[in-house]
Amino acid sequence: MKKKDMILIAVLLLAALALYAVSQITLGAPAASVVVTLDGKEVLRKPLAVEGRYPIEQADGSVNVIAVEDGAVYMAEANCRDGLCIRQGRMKNAAKTIVCLPHKLVVQLSGEPIVQENSDLDVIIQ
Ligand SMILES: [Zn+2]
Repeated sequence: MKKKDMILIAVLLLAALALYAVSQITLGAPAASVVVTLDGKEVLRKPLAVEGRYPIEQADGSVNVIAVEDGAVYMAEANCRDGLCIRQGRMKNAAKTIVCLPHKLVVQLSGEPIVQENSDLDVIIQ
C-alpha cells in the first residue's frame, strides 16, 4: 500500500513538473516588444521596457490607446462598442494577445527585441 502511494506521488510530481515545463515554454516566454496590428497589418512596434501611451486612430474614428507600463501592456482607452479589449487587462508574456474585434486591432507581445529607429522618436512617451 505504501509503495503504491509513493509511486502515485512520484507520478503526480512528474506530471506537475512536465506541465510546469510546458507552461514555461509556451506561456512564460519573455516578451521584449509590443506589436500592434490593424486588420493584419503591423502599425506599431514598441519596446516593452519603455513606458508610454500609444494612440492608434483610424480613418473611421476608431481610437485605441495602448499603454505600456511596468513591463506590461494594456488597453488604456478605446471607443469600441463592447469595451472588451480594455477588460482584458494587463499582459506580460508572449503567449497572450489583446484583441479589439470591432476595430480589427490586435496587440501582441513579441520575444524579439527592437532595433531602435530614428523615426520612432516622434512618438510621445510619457
Ligand atoms: Zn475594443
